[in-house]
Parts: sequence; structure tokens; C-alpha cells
Amino acid sequence: MSPCVNIHTHLVNPVDNKEFIEIQNIDVDNIVDVDVSRFYSIGIHPWKVGSEELRNSGIEELSDLKSRCIGDFNVKAIGECGLDRACDVDFEIQKEVFIKQIELSEKIAKPVIIHAVRTYSDIISIKKETKAKQTWIIHGFQGNEMSAEQLLKHGIYLSLGDVLFKNETKAKRLLQIIPTERLFLETDVAERKITDVYEKAASLSGIEMDKLRNDIFNNFVKIFGQI
Ligand SMILES: [Zn+2]
Repeated sequence: MSPCVNIHTHLVNPVDNKEFIEIQNIDVDNIVDVDVSRFYSIGIHPWKVGSEELRNSGIEELSDLKSRCIGDFNVKAIGECGLDRACDVDFEIQKEVFIKQIELSEKIAKPVIIHAVRTYSDIISIKKETKAKQTWIIHGFQGNEMSAEQLLKHGIYLSLGDVLFKNETKAKRLLQIIPTERLFLETDVAERKITDVYEKAASLSGIEMDKLRNDIFNNFVKIFGQI
């Protein structure tokens, strides 16, 4: 069976063999103690962009990633970054910082892991406006089927996590719409095993575990290259 891919986690999960691949999310103001044997995504979360200081230093720090020793191979993606209408941070500022990170992803040719809350149409507009060519992955997707269809139509990948446990009916419907060629699974901030997430997705969708793991691993290789 292919390795089990966890596309987005904030925790360092016990990964003691080649059976697991995970991308650990770190905030740009917290790039310390990175382990060169692991994979990361680094970005500025929309909840944090209210701070002008972080906004300015964060973007600079991100732009500098290429020259850092961890930059090229271990940093697999920019993010999580994005747009969130459920938080208090000024939306225009969120947009500005998100677009800067999109521009950076294009410049250094790395995919983006996106946090999106009630902003799917904004995300699609920005994709059109910026003509971004890098892969976009919306993590922790919890939207409805219509949003999923729209995002898929624009070439965006969708990653499911919490929704599989918190809203089985919705998760089932989403798994019918999202082809495995465009799907990822994740643990995010939850202290659960990625294998439990795969088992849940397999049982809700009726997709064989082998196929689920193979297809998602193939997505990973297609986007991030061979490991
Ligand atoms: Zn997250």
C-alpha cells in the first residue's frame, strides 16, 4: 500500500517509518527547531494578519525562504494562508496579505495550502485575477456541494478532516463529488491518527482503502514531486 499522506497538521505526529508522509504547518513567526527530515508549509494565517508588524516582517521572512537551508526541499508549500469572514481581522488586509503569499508561491513555484471560511467565491475571484498557476489546496474544507463543485471546476484540490467526524451526512455527499484525484485528508489541529481519518473516509465513501491511499499518494507526488 502507498504511504499515508496527511496534507495538513499543526502537530508533530509520531512518524517513525516510511509509511507516513505529513506536511506540518508552521507560522512564519515561529520558524524554530525545524527538523530537516520533515516536510513543512510556512505562511501567515489570516487570523494573524491584523498585526502590522507580523504582516511586514512575515512577508519578508517568507520571501527569504529560498535562501534558507530548509527552504527548498523541506518547505513543500506556502500556507496556511487565506481568507476568513468569521474572524474580526479587516477583510481588505486579509486579502492583501493573501495575495502577497499567492504571488510568492508563483515566484518560488510552490503550491499553496489555503484556509477559507465563507470565502470560496473570493478565493475563486483571486485565482482568476492573479492567473495563478501553482496548485491550490483548500484544507479543512467544510463547505457545501455547490462550493465544492465550483472550486473543483477551477482546478482546486480539497482536503477533508474534521467534517468527516462532525457532519457525516455532509462528508458523505462531499466524498461523492470530490474525485479521489483531487482529494486530500488531514488531521489539522486535532489529536487524531491520520489512519483513523482514512478509515472514516473509506467507510463513508465505500472507496477501498488501497485505492484511497494510492490515489492520494499519487496526488502528493504529482504536486510535490517524488519524495
Ligand atoms: Zn490548520
